[in-house]
Amino acid sequence: MRTVLLALTDELRRLKASGVKTVNVSDDSLAMLRRTISIRRNAGGGQQAASSGVAAVAPPPAQPRIAPTASHEPVSSPARLLPPPPDVVLPAGDKAARWEALRGQVLDHPVCRAHVRPGRKVVFGVGNLEAKIMFVGEAPGAEEEQQGEPFVGPAGQLLTRMIKAMGLERSDVYIGNIMNWRPELPARADGTQVGNREPTPEEMAFCLPFITAQIEVISPVLIVALGATAARGLLGPHGFRTLGDVRGRWHDYRGRPLRVTYHPSYLLRKEVEGQAAAKRAKRTAWEDFLAVMERAGLPITDKQRNYFL
Ligand code: URA
Repeated sequence: MRTVLLALTDELRRLKASGVKTVNVSDDSLAMLRRTISIRRNAGGGQQAASSGVAAVAPPPAQPRIAPTASHEPVSSPARLLPPPPDVVLPAGDKAARWEALRGQVLDHPVCRAHVRPGRKVVFGVGNLEAKIMFVGEAPGAEEEQQGEPFVGPAGQLLTRMIKAMGLERSDVYIGNIMNWRPELPARADGTQVGNREPTPEEMAFCLPFITAQIEVISPVLIVALGATAARGLLGPHGFRTLGDVRGRWHDYRGRPLRVTYHPSYLLRKEVEGQAAAKRAKRTAWEDFLAVMERAGLPITDKQRNYFL
């Protein structure tokens, strides 16, 4: 809770500094915030930040909420106030029913919907519900928010080629993102957004329960975190400074092996530096993929072992 209140205070200060004079807070939210602050004062401290776990039962009592501005309203401010992370409740039932219900919760979530521009989509994970391997990326980009599917733009096409190089199809694996909407930048006059930005810690914290729940439902044998944002989201923000600190070895994500590798966008950016640099980076990433194949029990040919050498 303390983290949430601090984030809220920081964001209010930031908005004030950028000239924003009013924010939309419902009476209920104000009452709950006042109650929370007075409880904390009386207790002289308080509990730590809200967890981002998946509730198997009914959600805990209501927490203070800052109402999102009207849903579907186009977003102008890059980072708007977010309520605390949602409590995801998975229904009973088989995997397909649980996944469908979760997908519905995310796609219909008013906060997610409030963050996509008209004509764009909230993006949920796709793939094989029985996948052994689950890839987790950062956030949708332009193509993804248009199609409502993760990794379909240039980085996604590279990821798809790497999956094929493993001897698999996209439909054999599951692909999700830490975030379910494209992190906003101020729009051009025609309402479109140019470029992408990294999600803020608050945005990541808000969406984290959705990917956590997908991992729980899919129950993959192992997880591949694509890039630093995915690694931070799943392993926590304090474990490392650079991607190099965490790639090249196995980690534990709630009892499942997790491998961190370069984000395909990074590999694409390396191409600008020239063939040799791009090949070196691709080989490094490919070594992570070989480790993943081994751990997942996939056959590996000599030809596959020698890619990018
Ligand atoms: N980059 C990501 O991290 N995710 C996508 O879905 C697309 C690009």
